[in-house]
Amino acid sequence: MGFVRLLPRSSRAQLAAVEDEEIQVAMNETDPEPVTELPTFDEVAALEGLPAPELLQVAVEPVLAEPRAPAPVVSAPIVVPQAPVPGVTGTRVIAFANQKGGVAKTTTTLNLGVAFKEMGYRVLLIDLDPQGNLTMSQGLNPDTIETSMFDVLVRKIPISDVIERREVDLAVASIDLAGAELALAALIGRERSLEKALVEVRDRYDFILIDTPPSLGLLTINAFVAATGVIVPVQCEYLALRGLVQLENTLAMVRENLNPRVGVEGIVPTMYDSRTLHAREAVEILEENFGDLVFKTRIRKTVRYAEAPVKGSSVLGYDPTGTASQAYRDLAKEVLHGAQAREHA
Ligand code: ADP
Ligand code: MG
Repeated sequence: MGFVRLLPRSSRAQLAAVEDEEIQVAMNETDPEPVTELPTFDEVAALEGLPAPELLQVAVEPVLAEPRAPAPVVSAPIVVPQAPVPGVTGTRVIAFANQKGGVAKTTTTLNLGVAFKEMGYRVLLIDLDPQGNLTMSQGLNPDTIETSMFDVLVRKIPISDVIERREVDLAVASIDLAGAELALAALIGRERSLEKALVEVRDRYDFILIDTPPSLGLLTINAFVAATGVIVPVQCEYLALRGLVQLENTLAMVRENLNPRVGVEGIVPTMYDSRTLHAREAVEILEENFGDLVFKTRIRKTVRYAEAPVKGSSVLGYDPTGTASQAYRDLAKEVLHGAQAREHA
């Protein structure tokens, strides 16, 4: 049984020493962003009257059972996906989810997708967020798109009708998608709409990556039902863990009723700034609680990720040789080799 427990200061000093070299590298990067040292967790807690970090124990306890232990029914443990079930193709369908906005779900869906494509895999991205950021990041305007994932989910048109060929294939979102939750609610089989739509194209792709909205509503549940696994991008900041409990509870419900094989495949620390103690503490806490479910690749904070979508491109297309692109190639390798490789990394 693990607990959220901050390391003593001395261990933090050791960690800081180990990362000195890494910090040097970071300082030498041309990234124009200034170093902003965020407060430590204790300071944030004191300032904002929030619970002391130790109290996070209460919030995260339900998911703290050993990640690899067989799943006890009551405590909503994180389940590592099992071998593919008979009758299902080898296609990996991965939902990128976190009900918090701005944690890099969209950025990760796109750049990981392009990294897989570079490796020779056949990739489909699905934009399931009514904000249409993924669609926009490939240079398309969700406001002028006529048929989108809304029509696929609600009107049951073939998904191939809304797939655009860009850096990778992309099933587009439009503003209509905002009405999908309501329209779906009235339909029988409302949670399986995406799963059914994917039958048509599943065999044509090795990876289907689904970008979800910042909520745990019907759109995200559709993604969980269709998925073989879930990847959770987490911003390296205080309180980042809190939402994970709710997310895991939703997944547990989906496992029980709709898709027994879906589970968290990995947690990606994003917007990591190794120069700040705050970010290092956030990753420490993630690793203490989720062990090797936390990918070794940290996606560093850099303005490159915000620049690329403006050009209608992934970071791999915009700055192919930069460290920001390499990070997603590293992550792609980790996702490919799965949990086992991470244990031996
Ligand atoms: P979400 O889909 O979870 O809401 P986004 O992927 O849209 O998050 O990212 C939110 C914002 O942060 C975007 O402007 C994006 O360009 C930026 N961003 C994403 N990843 C990083 C990063 N590693 N460093 C700095 N900014 C990032
Ligand atoms: Mg998004």
